[in-house]
Amino acid sequence: MAHLPNSESAPFSKSSNNDSRLGFHILTLFPESFDSVLSASLVGKAREKGLVDFQFTQIRDFSKDKHRTVDDTPYGGGEGMLMKADVLHDAWKEARRKIPEGARSTTIFLSPQGTPLTQSLAKELATYDDLVLVCGHYEGVDERFIEMCVDREISIGDYVLTGGELPAMVLIDVVTRLIPGVVGNEKSLSEETFEKGLLKYPQYTRPRNYEGREVPEVLLGGDHGAIARWREEKMRERTEKKRPDLLGKTARLKNQ
Ligand code: SAM
Repeated sequence: MAHLPNSESAPFSKSSNNDSRLGFHILTLFPESFDSVLSASLVGKAREKGLVDFQFTQIRDFSKDKHRTVDDTPYGGGEGMLMKADVLHDAWKEARRKIPEGARSTTIFLSPQGTPLTQSLAKELATYDDLVLVCGHYEGVDERFIEMCVDREISIGDYVLTGGELPAMVLIDVVTRLIPGVVGNEKSLSEETFEKGLLKYPQYTRPRNYEGREVPEVLLGGDHGAIARWREEKMRERTEKKRPDLLGKTARLKNQ
């Protein structure tokens, strides 16, 4: 990228203040669409505990005309409208002004053309102090804004959504639960799907028999070694069945 506003040499450590708080700075035309997601469940609790905070920048406030225009037609023709570089650039500068001096931050443009969001990428993002998230809309944004202000583009999957708001909410949710103190039992994170390049084993709770289906015998005996072996076997079995592509990735990583 042409301009890396805050890239640093030690990508997996937070800044020296040792504070686990993560600030999300969201540039959007629709801040209200985040309300329910950011106040509910674990993300809402993390916000109440001060482990994460959210600052919104309404892109339209940086329009240059009385009609509050934020988009224009693309040069060379083509469908739809593009978000203007000057409006986005000014909104981005305003969002950056709210980031404390010395904080490690990075600017992410949510885009179907970006690097796919994975658990390992989320872990890396959770090490930052502040993340600036830019939500596109319409046909996208003027490329010069990306060249000047964006450190990385991230996609939530190979499909095209109307805007970057849902992708930003997905990223916030994934990254927030990785922040120490957000998930009550942190051990549960280390046993999750994708952690060992495998899917998690099947799980059961009461009753022991549900409509004729029994909980596997091994889980009832209290033999922790046998339970661990059974779980390991199931992880391999179901990954082979549901996501064989993951096994290929794990093998490739081991051979590197
Ligand atoms: N015309 C663009 C293209 O072909 O690449 C797609 C624009 S899309 C309709 C509008 C905005 O939604 C994008 O600028 C981006 O911010 C967001 N978006 C759409 N799909 C996305 C995805 N899979 N991941 C992340 N952001 C996405």
